[in-house]
Amino acid sequence: MITKEEVKQRALEIGFADAGFAQSTPFESQREFLTNDYYGWTQSVGIDLWKGLDPQNIFPDSRSIIVLLYSYFESSIPPLLQKYYGRCYLNDDRVTRDGLFTLVKKFRDFLKSNGINSKVANYMPDKLAAMRAGVGTSGKNTLLYARSAAGGSSFVFPVVVLVDYDFSPDAPSIESGCPSWCRNACIAACPTKALLGNGKINPQRCISYLTYYGEGVTPLELREPMGLYIYGCDRCQNVCPRNTSWLYERKDSTERFISMEEDFMPEKILLMDREYFQTKIWPYMFYMSFNDVWRWRMNAARAMGNSRDERFIPYLEKALENFDDERVRIMCIWALGRIGGSSALKILENIRLQNTNADLAEEINLAMENCNS
Ligand code: SF4
Ligand code: SF4
Repeated sequence: MITKEEVKQRALEIGFADAGFAQSTPFESQREFLTNDYYGWTQSVGIDLWKGLDPQNIFPDSRSIIVLLYSYFESSIPPLLQKYYGRCYLNDDRVTRDGLFTLVKKFRDFLKSNGINSKVANYMPDKLAAMRAGVGTSGKNTLLYARSAAGGSSFVFPVVVLVDYDFSPDAPSIESGCPSWCRNACIAACPTKALLGNGKINPQRCISYLTYYGEGVTPLELREPMGLYIYGCDRCQNVCPRNTSWLYERKDSTERFISMEEDFMPEKILLMDREYFQTKIWPYMFYMSFNDVWRWRMNAARAMGNSRDERFIPYLEKALENFDDERVRIMCIWALGRIGGSSALKILENIRLQNTNADLAEEINLAMENCNS
């Protein structure tokens, strides 16, 4: 029968950055973690984290866990894309199936050819599984950091594969890998105070969550802190000294990122129609359907406002002409006020003359005050 070393060797040949082995026993420590107010929303979006507490719930024949690390930041990403989008979302191939998906398929085919059945476990506590398998440690920003792959950075996805074969477990690494001299840079840098300082996060305060699941118009007090991010957020990773060497590495860009740079700019997102969304956007970032296009537009308008770039004013004006959705209109008005200047003020004055909506009137007055300040 195949050995653990041969399995790991094949995983590296296929393109994974690391691989480790763990026992297929329940993740009891995670139960308490899930039993708090922060995770109730997950089931409403179809994510069953409770099922993932026990590998047997997912694959009754499971006898061992193999954790594969995928290094998703191997190619240079155009700087503008990195300002607006979390890096991991730029490389998500769950719809296009042209990256990680093909590696996982090759790996499972390899196991199958050696008589081992497997199942990829979505919604398992993958960070905990990775630490149990010894391929990484945790950071105070709650992310997994690779043990040695990808420069020991957090730019890795753990893929949890359950198998019906007994492999001896690797030494676990369930610990924080943060250097004692780091003065909690991630916690200080989190603009929305999502990081709680005890290795935990309030996901509903995290910009990533807010960009794709946030309800209603973004509250005024979060609009500036959310900055330029349209989908995802990497701020707590960018400031982390454990990521310094990997961020420094020079890497070639890919065609995927070059075409995304053009298609994903905020002016395109703000004014996109259904066809554009379905062909250019959704295959890469699919957490929102076209029914939620208002949120995409609202995020793009906020990013434009926070850029304070007057180049965006005509696009915001056009969006106000084209769209009735109040959430989008409010953010376009706010963005004009944030950019400021005489041409933004003129547009706001015209809108005020036509407006009959009391909520909008308040936003218009505030934006005009900002223009004048
Ligand atoms: S991703 Fe952004 S908002 Fe979320 S915890 Fe990190 S810095 Fe805070
Ligand atoms: S910024 Fe500092 S505390 Fe936060 S994860 Fe990185 S090393 Fe740890």
